[in-house]
Amino acid sequence: MSTMAQRDWKYALAPVWPHFTELQISRGKGSFLFDREGNPYLDFTSGIGVTNTGHCHPRIVQAIQAQAEKLLHGQATILYHEPMQELVKELRTVIPDPLDCFFLTNSGSEAVESALKLARHATGRTNVTCFQGGYHGRTIGAMSVTTAKTVYRLHYQPLMPGVAVAPYPRRKEDVPYCLEELERLLVTQTAPSETAAMIVEPILGEGGYIVPPAGFLPELRRICDEHGILLILDEIQSGFGRTGQFFAFEHEPMIPDICIMAKGLASGLPLSGIAAPREVMERWVTGSHGGTYGGNPLACAAAAETIRVLKEESLPERAATLGKELIASLNRCKDSGEIHEVRGRGLMVGCEFRDTRQKPDRDRAAKVRLACLQQGLILLTCGTYDHVIRWIPPLTVSQSELSQALTVFESALMDVDPS
Ligand code: PMP
Repeated sequence: MSTMAQRDWKYALAPVWPHFTELQISRGKGSFLFDREGNPYLDFTSGIGVTNTGHCHPRIVQAIQAQAEKLLHGQATILYHEPMQELVKELRTVIPDPLDCFFLTNSGSEAVESALKLARHATGRTNVTCFQGGYHGRTIGAMSVTTAKTVYRLHYQPLMPGVAVAPYPRRKEDVPYCLEELERLLVTQTAPSETAAMIVEPILGEGGYIVPPAGFLPELRRICDEHGILLILDEIQSGFGRTGQFFAFEHEPMIPDICIMAKGLASGLPLSGIAAPREVMERWVTGSHGGTYGGNPLACAAAAETIRVLKEESLPERAATLGKELIASLNRCKDSGEIHEVRGRGLMVGCEFRDTRQKPDRDRAAKVRLACLQQGLILLTCGTYDHVIRWIPPLTVSQSELSQALTVFESALMDVDPS
């Protein structure tokens, strides 16, 4: 793997914003990215949970190439093209009933915006409940239900009104308080009869890779049913095999009213969407929502093939197995006192750093991440204080790539002293 010294620093000043990193990449293959000099980097970010099938999976590249010869654009309110039909057919094999109707968009935020608009339209209500530490995107509606960090919201006020923020449980013993507080917020702030939706991540992503205790999501389902509120699950980071099931909600006996998907859906092409029961989706009258590019033919072809690859290569099952091994290995680092907590599900795993006073240790997480990057391993942080290093390798990652990454990580942990 590469070292930082080998890189050409002048490209750090690219005239593009945002430019969070100095990495200049020219191609990707499987778990690896390669810079202009051909130096390999193990990409354990999957472009933030996008390339679940690895970079440039040959079958997906082939599907895009074949589609590029046939049709590049087809406006979805005017026509229904073949790749979209193929995609819907594939989605129906992995999303349970009654989520049988789809609306396609381009980015995660746009899909969140669509879900919120659909919920308002379908219920005739305006208010929304979201959760502490949640991340749903950067557009005004999505940002209004995003609370993971203040930087996402600062200087963008006023945001969408009518939003209440309920606590999200980390441990089993937190659940009763969180549910009580949620019901209190419904009664005192948004009013059940005026609340259109509850939007929640089945595992907090940007908020720090927090898996809620078993039973929490079904309780949300129960509360929503009781009040006629639509339950929106944001599966943007947790979907498409990442957690060991096709969707993270499948770990629990519950189904949302609206499921939001993006990222892993099309292996890197910009595609997102929502799934809802037809009777909910039909409450959207024609013309009440739409966009020019949603459901682009190239993106749909990539997505249909992505779902086939995920199924045929049993990638959700791989994520479940490899994730357990990864958590066990990282827990050995925890046992030696290097990490505060290891948590996650499937190949969505976070390592939380705290200092000797038990305060979130952003500095150490940043230093460990940089030390890994210097040895050719790309990792990313998350969490309100950026004190959690997340492991989101492609689901195609090999055992030897995982061990290679763990060796780099362990040496980085030893090089960077606890603060
Ligand atoms: N929801 C979740 C759970 C996400 O992880 C993200 C992206 N990190 C988004 C929404 C927003 O997606 P996008 O960046 O494509 O707008």
